[in-house]
Amino acid sequence: MDLDILNEKGLRQQPATEVGSYFVSNYPPYSVWSAEHVPSALRALDTPVGDRGHTARGSAFGGFHSARGSELGSGLGLYIHIPFCRKRCKFCYFRVYTDKNSDDVDVYLDALAKEAALYAERAALQGRSWDFVYFGGGTPSFLSSDQLRRLIDRISEHWLWENAKEVTFECEPGTLKKGKLEAIKAIGTTRLSLGVEHFDDEVLVTGGRAHKSPEIFQSYAWAREVGFEQINIDLIAGMVGDTEAKWRATVDQALRLAPDCLTVYQMEVPYNTVLAREAKETGTPTPVPSWATKRSWVDYAFSEFEKCGYVLSSTTTVYKPENHKGFYYRDALWHGADMVGMGVASFSHFSGVHFQNADSWESYVGALQQDELPIARALPITDHRRLIRELILQLKLGRLDLGYFRAKFGKQITEVFSEAIGSLLAEGLTEVRGDELRLSREGLLRVDSLLPRFFEPQFRNIRYT
Ligand code: SF4
Repeated sequence: MDLDILNEKGLRQQPATEVGSYFVSNYPPYSVWSAEHVPSALRALDTPVGDRGHTARGSAFGGFHSARGSELGSGLGLYIHIPFCRKRCKFCYFRVYTDKNSDDVDVYLDALAKEAALYAERAALQGRSWDFVYFGGGTPSFLSSDQLRRLIDRISEHWLWENAKEVTFECEPGTLKKGKLEAIKAIGTTRLSLGVEHFDDEVLVTGGRAHKSPEIFQSYAWAREVGFEQINIDLIAGMVGDTEAKWRATVDQALRLAPDCLTVYQMEVPYNTVLAREAKETGTPTPVPSWATKRSWVDYAFSEFEKCGYVLSSTTTVYKPENHKGFYYRDALWHGADMVGMGVASFSHFSGVHFQNADSWESYVGALQQDELPIARALPITDHRRLIRELILQLKLGRLDLGYFRAKFGKQITEVFSEAIGSLLAEGLTEVRGDELRLSREGLLRVDSLLPRFFEPQFRNIRYT
C-alpha cells in the first residue's frame, strides 16, 4: 500500500505500515495449530517427566554446550492471563474485556483457580515447581488488591513459587495505588513491568490508552518506594500521532526515570485491531509511520540508552548491567522451556507440544465449570521444528551460539540453514565469527521480517496468527 504521510514539518514520509502480523513469537505459525491435536497436549501432560525420552530436554545429545542454556531450557514456567482492561487500545490484538464487572471478575478468578487445581493433578507436573511466573494480560493490575490476594491464596493450595527465579507482573500505570503495588510485591513479584508506551498525552489518548503521563510518574515513584528488584518500562515507537520530536522527548523522559530495563516495540497493526478495522472501513491506509521510520526511531532510542550505560540485549530490550537480574521468562522460553499458560486464550508449550486455551469467555469458563482443561487447539512439534523455533527466537537476541545448537540438536545450523544464513551474509545483515552468528544493528532492528527465511516452505506465506 502506497500512502505518503506528512511529518510534523509537512514533508512526505515513506509508506505507512500495512495491516498484518509482523512480530514473530513462536513456530510453527499459530494458524496451523488445531483441535485435532488436543489429545497430544493431554498425553504430554499425563506423561511423567522420567518417561519423556529426550523430548524438550536434549539429553539424547549428551548435554548442552552452554550450562546457562541448559538451565534455561529445562525450566518450567507459569503464565497467568488476566484479560481485563479499563479501555481497549486501538492497536491491541489480545483477548481482553473492558465490560466486565466485579462479579464477572470473580467468575474468572474461580475459573483460574480451578485450572490451577486441574493442572496439579497431571502426572507430568507432579513434583515440579515453577522456575518463573508471568502475570500478563490484559492488565493484571486491573485486579484489586483483595482480588489478587484471593486468587493467589487459591492457587497456593496447589502451587507455590517461593523458589521461582523471577515473577513478572504487568501493570497499566492508571490502575495503580501504592497499596496495590505493595500487594503485588507481597505475592513475590520481582519484576514489575509498566506499560507506559509513550509519554506524550496526545499520543496516549489517540492510541486509546487509559492512562496519561501524570499517572506514569506517580505509579513509577510509588513502585520505587515499594522497592521492586527490577522495574521495566515498555515503550512503543510509531503510535498514531507520534513524531520524531515526540519520540525523542519520550526517550529523554524514559532516561530521566532510569528504569532497570526497557522494552521498545515497533508499532504494528495486526488484523484484529481497531486500527485495522478503521483502515478497512474507510479504505485508507493505517496512520502508523513506516517501518523505516520506526526502525530509525528505535535505533535512536537504543543509541541514547547505550550512551547512558544501558546494554542492548535483544531486538526490543536494553538493561542497566549494574541492576539487572536477567529476563528469565524470555530467555527460558527462547531456550525451549516448558510453560503452562492459564487463562482465556493462553498459550502453552509443554514437552514438545504447543497448545492454546479456548479464546472465548464462554468456552473457557464453561470448560472449567465442567472440570475440564479448556485446551482448544494444539500442535506437537518435531525435533526439526523445535530447532527452528529456538533458532528464530534466539536470533532476536542478536546472536546465536552455534555450539548450543550442536549440543542440543546435533546440528550445525550454518549447514542446515545455509541458504537463509547465506542470504543474510550476502545482504550484510549478519556475520559468523568463531562459534557465533551475530546480526548487525540493522539486522537486529528488522529481525522479525528476516525470520520467515528459516521457516519450512509451507509456513512461509500463510497467515501467522
Ligand atoms: S492495556 Fe494492553 S492488553 Fe489492555 S487493551 Fe491496551 S494493549 Fe491491550
